[in-house]
Amino acid sequence: MTYKEALKKGRELLEKAGLEEASTDAWLLLQHRTGISRSQYFLRERDEVQPDQETQYFDDLARRKRHIPLQHITGVQEFMGLEFMVNEDVLIPRQDTECVVEEAVKYLQDDMKVLDMCTGSGCIVISLADAARQKRFRNMEFTGADISEKALRVSGFNAEKLQADVTFVQSDLFENVTGQFDLIVSNPPYIRTDVIEELQDEVKLHDPYIALDGKSDGLFFYRRMVEEAGRHLHPKGRLLFEIGFDQGKAVSGLMEKAGYTEIVVKKDLAGLDRVVSGVYN
Ligand code: GLN
Repeated sequence: MTYKEALKKGRELLEKAGLEEASTDAWLLLQHRTGISRSQYFLRERDEVQPDQETQYFDDLARRKRHIPLQHITGVQEFMGLEFMVNEDVLIPRQDTECVVEEAVKYLQDDMKVLDMCTGSGCIVISLADAARQKRFRNMEFTGADISEKALRVSGFNAEKLQADVTFVQSDLFENVTGQFDLIVSNPPYIRTDVIEELQDEVKLHDPYIALDGKSDGLFFYRRMVEEAGRHLHPKGRLLFEIGFDQGKAVSGLMEKAGYTEIVVKKDLAGLDRVVSGVYN
């Protein structure tokens, strides 16, 4: 089968299975298995795909048809221009979360200690460490915390692969976290339990449930972190959260009530509230 035929067949198979991005998905799987780039494809579309690669490609398509996320098949997700390894133990990094990194980067300075709570794949803290290195900040310390040991295996792997100097700690929120920080960032589970049922199969069946579930009102982890972060923030330290599109008011309210000041809500590319942060006094 030629590259062109393989791509067409792949797209048709995925379209039939009702996948919205059939064309893109088929292309990415073909690229994943054969290593062909877009420009090579246009030169070589009439060449034969190697038989073993063809077999693997059709196996991948069969998995994708069952709504297994593309990233669990390819094993990677790009985030902030870096390639992160992902599996079913971590939430697949979302583009929305790049807003968290972009906002947090504005607050980086020399000599800062930064904590990423609920680090998952490590995408936030590793991107921040990478940005700090590029901007030549000095004497910074980065820590990632997560309750899941399996997630920490992924974040540890990613830090090593991307040569980011990050320390990881297994901890139920602040339980095993010691010391104080200048910036605490977090993308905690924030989906209301009753809403999880309505999410796409890719998300509700394949992202870790504990990475999604924000309990009955979705605010469980914000409440606990707003309460407990003070003990781990230097005076004037900042707490910065990713939030769901409808949680801006509630989360900034929690921070205000706990005495945080300079509270800012930032929107994502779709114009929806996505980041809230405030300064601890
Ligand atoms: N943004 C993710 C989603 O919509 C949820 C991530 C989270 O709960 N932190 O699926």
